[in-house]
Amino acid sequence: MTLHWSCQCQDGKARAGTLHTAHGDVATPVFMPVGTAGTVKGMTADAVRATGANIVLGNTYHLMLRPGAERVGRLGGLHKMMDWHGPILTDSGGFQVMSLSQLRKLDKDGVTFQSHINGEKFRLTPERSIEIQHLLDADITMCFDECTPFPATHEVAGKSMRLSMDWAARSRAAFVARPGYGLFGIQQGSVFEDLRAESARALTEIGFEGYAIGGLAVGEGQAEMFRTLDFSVPMLPETHPRYLMGVGTPSDLIGAVMRGVDMFDCVIPTRSGRTGRAYTSHGVVNIRNARHAEDTGSLDPECDCPACTRHSLGYLQHLFKAGEMLGPILLTWHNIRYYQRLMARLRQAILDGRLAEEAAALEAGWRKPEETPV
Ligand SMILES: [Zn+2]
Repeated sequence: MTLHWSCQCQDGKARAGTLHTAHGDVATPVFMPVGTAGTVKGMTADAVRATGANIVLGNTYHLMLRPGAERVGRLGGLHKMMDWHGPILTDSGGFQVMSLSQLRKLDKDGVTFQSHINGEKFRLTPERSIEIQHLLDADITMCFDECTPFPATHEVAGKSMRLSMDWAARSRAAFVARPGYGLFGIQQGSVFEDLRAESARALTEIGFEGYAIGGLAVGEGQAEMFRTLDFSVPMLPETHPRYLMGVGTPSDLIGAVMRGVDMFDCVIPTRSGRTGRAYTSHGVVNIRNARHAEDTGSLDPECDCPACTRHSLGYLQHLFKAGEMLGPILLTWHNIRYYQRLMARLRQAILDGRLAEEAAALEAGWRKPEETPV
């Protein structure tokens, strides 16, 4: 049987479900930590598992440049390389090509670009992106698409979306079906309702194992993102998982879950952890803030991670000030654990039919005195 999703319970538009993959089941809504170059930065696979995460994301763009997709295949695939035996989702490379590579040249067939590492020339087409994701052994493969810039006019967004829909059909044709593996289509159309509808119709006609919402969290702001989700999410099939790509802050996740999104990925918890920003039950904590220098208290008294249960705020600040690698490791661990606990709480609240109350309680907690709002 191919990869599929089953719904256990609905509360308003929010859904609690289970994603069934070749490498195990995943409870949704779910947050997937980002393992860009075959590693969730600073974390062993055991540490990632200990946070409660059971699906991670890998990046086609980074892995095709280094060590190369064929080499990952010869090394046994991404699961074996990473010692990660749970499900893996890989992106298609389209977003990173647009944001990281140099001298890109886009045509109807694909995109040619130079590596940001050494200037070496590469070409990505829908067929090659799907082939790479197969070599990586991704449980969930994403269609190759063009990342529409923001802001974009209706005309530019429409043209870009139609190119992505053409590439979605080619991605579907190139995908090799295997039991427990699946291909997700990506809805585009920027913030325009008619384009989102046209995109959803095109994708549904092709048929995918899941549907992603692309082209958001690219600078439009939370209010505009939520406004776009309000009309975009209901356009996607109710029977399939819905994945909001590259989102977001805890507040973004709550708002999107309430609008019917099931899956998320974002570099925010890991990147913030490396720079000394922690997401906690009482808001965002900047570990370098002078007030924490001799604080013997815990980063987050509600959290059960090693940073919070075994160390003081004062010690965590010392690690960052001294440039010790353990500081970023502990804060990354904490942030991923925070995101996992957040999603587990939202899921339980959906099952109990009290998501609105839970969301209000979480948001009230962040308003307690701290340095910056979430
Ligand atoms: Zn913690």
